[in-house]
Amino acid sequence: MKAKLILEKAYNPKPVEEKWSKFWIDEGLFIAQASSQQKKFSMVLPPPNVTGILHVGHALCFTLPDIIVRWRRMQGYNTLWLPGTDHASIAVHHVIEQNLAEKGLTREQIGREEFLKIAWEWKEKHGGIIINQLKKLGASLDWTRERFTLDEGFSKSVRWVFISLYKEGLIYRDYYLVNRCPRCRTVLSDIEVEHKELKGKLYYIKYPLKESEEFVVVATTRPETMLGDTAVAVHPEDGRYSKFQGKKILLPLTNRVIPVIADEKVEREFGTGAVKVTPAHDPVDFELGKKHNLEQVIVIDGRGVMTEDAGEEFRSLDRFECRERVLLKLKRMGLLKKIEDYRHAVGHCYRCKTIIEPHLSWQWFVKVAPLAKEAIRVVEEGKIRFIPSNWAKTYFEWMYKIHDWCISRQLWWGHRIPAWYCQDCNEVIVDMEAPQKCLKCKSSNLVQDEDVLDTWFSSSLWPFATMDWREETEDFKTFYPTDLMLTGFDIIFFWVARMIMMGLKFAGDIPFQHVFINGLVRDFKRRKMSKSEGNVINPLDMIEKYGTDALRFTLAALAIPGMDLSLSEERMAGYRAFSNKIWNASRFVLMNLEGEDFEIKEEELTLADRWIRSRLDKMVEELNEALEGYKFYEAADKVYHFIWDEFCDWYIELVKPSLKEKNKTSQGVLVETLDRILRLLHPFMPFITEEIWQHLPPSQKSLTIAPFPEPDKSLRNEEVEAEMELLQKAIIEVRTIRAENRIPPKKKIDLWMKVKKEEEKSLIKKHRIDIQTLANIRSMEIVDAFPQGERLLKGVVGSWEMALSLEGILDLEQEKKRLEREISKISLDIEKVESRLKKAKFLSRAPENVVQETKQRLKSLLNRKTKLEESLRNLS
Ligand SMILES: [Zn+2]
Ligand SMILES: [Zn+2]
Repeated sequence: MKAKLILEKAYNPKPVEEKWSKFWIDEGLFIAQASSQQKKFSMVLPPPNVTGILHVGHALCFTLPDIIVRWRRMQGYNTLWLPGTDHASIAVHHVIEQNLAEKGLTREQIGREEFLKIAWEWKEKHGGIIINQLKKLGASLDWTRERFTLDEGFSKSVRWVFISLYKEGLIYRDYYLVNRCPRCRTVLSDIEVEHKELKGKLYYIKYPLKESEEFVVVATTRPETMLGDTAVAVHPEDGRYSKFQGKKILLPLTNRVIPVIADEKVEREFGTGAVKVTPAHDPVDFELGKKHNLEQVIVIDGRGVMTEDAGEEFRSLDRFECRERVLLKLKRMGLLKKIEDYRHAVGHCYRCKTIIEPHLSWQWFVKVAPLAKEAIRVVEEGKIRFIPSNWAKTYFEWMYKIHDWCISRQLWWGHRIPAWYCQDCNEVIVDMEAPQKCLKCKSSNLVQDEDVLDTWFSSSLWPFATMDWREETEDFKTFYPTDLMLTGFDIIFFWVARMIMMGLKFAGDIPFQHVFINGLVRDFKRRKMSKSEGNVINPLDMIEKYGTDALRFTLAALAIPGMDLSLSEERMAGYRAFSNKIWNASRFVLMNLEGEDFEIKEEELTLADRWIRSRLDKMVEELNEALEGYKFYEAADKVYHFIWDEFCDWYIELVKPSLKEKNKTSQGVLVETLDRILRLLHPFMPFITEEIWQHLPPSQKSLTIAPFPEPDKSLRNEEVEAEMELLQKAIIEVRTIRAENRIPPKKKIDLWMKVKKEEEKSLIKKHRIDIQTLANIRSMEIVDAFPQGERLLKGVVGSWEMALSLEGILDLEQEKKRLEREISKISLDIEKVESRLKKAKFLSRAPENVVQETKQRLKSLLNRKTKLEESLRNLS
């Protein structure tokens, strides 16, 4: 075996990353094989919005699954990671309508056709941004299978599912009170509404009885809706109001007369116990209105503007402006009894944070309960597993109280609802393509529903519609169900639950086995990243600064299941240094092996060779285990410490003498170890590992398909590890003594050791050279007693005692003075910390972690002082 080339002096990520990401794609290394007999591993990429620009949350969501899929591919699985983008109705509308607004236009002015033309053009031009960024991250997706939720095949699947559900009665149309965002000008599903506690007011309004001097007082947070009241309701057993039941009220500010009705649903404790009923503008009142056959008077339209029915005075006013006007009028009329402060939950649009408006209109709904039943079962039975498992609880809580899902949106960009209405007989026709004639009256006067489907409706089909399941494709047969879905907790309901329901219903099986829920990426102080805080970390900047591998490794190292990540640039700089460390170590290895013929002979293995093989094998086992359990942080931590501490800091140092002697076996072990390390590290740091690996003796075309190391028990040797540990401890102790006593690193020293056990004596004798080299020792002797008259520094490792001679090393007087100075300084520090701890106030007020830190600091100061005093004693 021969090593090829020498690495460049310094690692420069940019050209290396560009070279390999292109190479991997050009060589088709990520293309999955349908109908292969190999065991498979498959995932679908959570499709980013076409409007998307890579942010740090994406970077996490793409890096972690890439680690898994690269690892599985190297393990020999036939892997598919299927990419694509989501058409994202609302987000695209935001962009296009904003552009239009700059030209003083609205979408209504240019019309649906023109709008869609602009949207498609925009998509062609900008929709690829996030895809290119994904490639930059090294995400090993099969680009030959890229899909878009609005592509032709996908759109057909969406229509087909809609029609199937409609035929089964699981999709229906209803005149219903839904949530509408006046700003986005579309309705939203219940879970798209965020409820926030707001400081509001509770207004007490007097409603005069007709033909009487009496009043009923009602309390409301939204006085403007009184214009649409069609009743006042009281509890049937509320004695305060029994005399009013069945009486009529003259609704102020309108000329309408409304009844006082009785219903058990009325909460006697709220306000005055008498409530106004506005069926067209409140969900509770809507139900109450249906029950009592009340009229639905719409006074606020979908834009949040008062309608004709609000009355001459109020029509065309904005809803909040109208509130002020109504209050003013009531006050003048003496009908505003009082105003109280009142905290209550108010629904906001999840996209634009506008206060939503309950809105009565014709909408399409999915009847979810029958679908949810199965979706609950598969999680209960463990067919689908949430990681961390506590998310299953959240999932159940939501699934048990699930509401029907409003799926129509008053937007244009998206899957238009495949329903046509006959203008002559009101027949509704739901079909794949536009019907020519009404099925009932044969009229051709048909109009298609104006609305499009909720984007989440199409994304719920993502895992199987991307594989064209209806055609029973080889892809579908080979890769469905997928193995893993990795996503954020915020879309468990929006997306994960719905994929499970739809997958079971249409693809006949669960869409994925494992659902890994990742944490939020926060800043280093664990604060949420936000533009206003100015603490947003842009992954593209980080790639530019530290390289993609460093970013990926940082995210993996921080990904503890069930916890948010606290990201800092320092951390990334640290892993950039790690890249450099690997680069330099590899460079050293390759330089020493250039042109060499090496071969591992079992009988020629040194202790260090056997040790590194044994340690590496243990790491291989632990790393595989960690990845099986999606413990990214643990896997990253293990591989990091192995490479830095054991390989670079110990093995490379220990192997140097063997390299000088051109020991072919040690050369072989060195290159074998480097080769394995690169394989192990590859899923985390794909670029640098590929670059270095390509310089090793060739085996495969690319590291991406080189076999991932499997544990091999024959390499394990506990005895060797124990021996090595003793030697390491001795070396560390000598190094520590040197450092603590400020012995210049270049100064060679003399060492005596007292060792009792015979086998340990021979171990030390055998590895005298190693110890001497690594601890910078001139002469080393095993003795029964330390020499008399020498000024010695002493140390202990287990049952061994060791002594270093200070003769000729340090100026004793100066060193004494230095130690004394340092001791008095540290004593002062100790006093300060102690007095801080003693202050009872401090203890009771300070947060627990601060107290702990202070205690820790005191402990380390005391330790240091003891050591210094010991050194001082040794000198005298
Ligand atoms: Zn909105
Ligand atoms: Zn008809």
